[in-house]
Amino acid sequence: MDLSTGSAIFDSLGVNRVINGRGWITVVGGSIMPPEVATAMSEATDSYVDLNELNLAAGRAIAGYTGAEAGLVVAGAGAGLMLQAAACITGSDPELRQRLPDTDGVPNEILIHSGHVTNYTGCYRSAGAKVVTWGDGDGPADEQLETAIGPDTAAIAYVFHPWNSSPLTLEQTVTIAHARDLPVVVDAAVMLPPASSLTTYIEQGADMVTFSGGKGLRGPQSTGILCGRSDLIEAARLNNAPNHGIGRPAKVCKEEIAGLIAALNLFVRTDHEAEWAVWRARSAVIASAVNDIPGLEVKIEDNDPNRAGPAVAVYFRDGWDGPDAEAILERLAARKPSIRAGSGNYDNELFITPVTLKEGEEHIVASALREDLLA
Ligand SMILES: *Cc1c(COP(=O)(O)O)cnc(C)c1O
Repeated sequence: MDLSTGSAIFDSLGVNRVINGRGWITVVGGSIMPPEVATAMSEATDSYVDLNELNLAAGRAIAGYTGAEAGLVVAGAGAGLMLQAAACITGSDPELRQRLPDTDGVPNEILIHSGHVTNYTGCYRSAGAKVVTWGDGDGPADEQLETAIGPDTAAIAYVFHPWNSSPLTLEQTVTIAHARDLPVVVDAAVMLPPASSLTTYIEQGADMVTFSGGKGLRGPQSTGILCGRSDLIEAARLNNAPNHGIGRPAKVCKEEIAGLIAALNLFVRTDHEAEWAVWRARSAVIASAVNDIPGLEVKIEDNDPNRAGPAVAVYFRDGWDGPDAEAILERLAARKPSIRAGSGNYDNELFITPVTLKEGEEHIVASALREDLLA
């Protein structure tokens, strides 16, 4: 494999390339932008525009794709979560916008089911919100949520993620929240593809939804989408750069806005079934390289509707006396280029997702995995 692919800057800095079998994950570079997206970004750098005008226009394009009243390009879904909290706390009040993250004396609690807490839940706090979990008490879930709502509740958060769940559906949560005039804010960072997610949560009554722009959407890594009710999106916009609010450090530049819109235009035209078939074939190459090894159970996990693509899971079973999953991950990572795989959701499991492999890399991963398992 040609190690000098990509940026000459990486080479001049002496930075190695990674073969990414972990998926659209920030720490290994997120995603690779298709040429259409990269071109949109380099063309956008050729002229000045009024950023407020561009933000509003890009927001209308997002509204068109999501069926929401309004949209906004944000600096990743993480910024989307911060702006959801900011918008729900400040509403249209300019003085409140000026004093975030100080939320003294105004409703500032974001309620979230304990099963929905992720590494990203803290993003709400950066707007000055207080995160309050519910769901660990006794009794039916709907009653527990109703009891948790109080005078300081600003919004109810809802998360879609393969590893997270709540006993209430989004629609049930919306019914309870709307009866109290409270907004429901959704974290759907990892839910693209499928393309249907663009509209599903809005249809189900969510007041604001955020998606990563730099995961399965394959836009610029540092972008995201926020969409929802027009009053809340306007509040989010005013809290965000280029305005001087809590979101000023979460700036999105004109090139990124152009790239995100180009990525959306491309995403909705993509044949996702054909793409899935390519990923399935890559999974089969990797699985078949190791599924004869005694003590391993190798599965292609292909039918989880909450996942953006298939994946290869390798379980170490009784009778396996080779190195454990952690040691294998280290061996793969020590290679040049470094091969990164995941550790899955169970003890002693290896998890390889083909969605971020470049064409042909499945063969490199397959033979490296076999070699490192048998070494
Ligand atoms: C990745 C992720 C985020 C953050 O998204 P970015 O676009 O990287 O900021 C938020 N929530 C969840 C559940 C995620 O997986």
